[in-house]
Amino acid sequence: MKVDVKPGRCVGHTLCNATAPEVFELDDDGYVAIAKDTVLPGELETLALAGAAACPERALVVLEWLSPEQPTGRIDEPKDVT
Ligand code: SF4
Repeated sequence: MKVDVKPGRCVGHTLCNATAPEVFELDDDGYVAIAKDTVLPGELETLALAGAAACPERALVVLEWLSPEQPTGRIDEPKDVT
């Protein structure tokens, strides 16, 4: 699984980090800071989806990541984290 930030969409609400700090780190100015091409373990998927869903700007995308040779696809539906 990977997460991407849509260019220019993050405005620093910090809600992604408040929901899923293990996935969405922030820079010193409060903007989301995700290292490019970081692959996250599958067990963080539910948390990543919840964090992405918390963003009022819809700046975050959670992607499937099967292998470097296989294409990624968007995981659309946030999952219930309760
Ligand atoms: S990605 Fe969304 S919730 Fe996270 S800091 Fe940026 S604007 Fe705020």
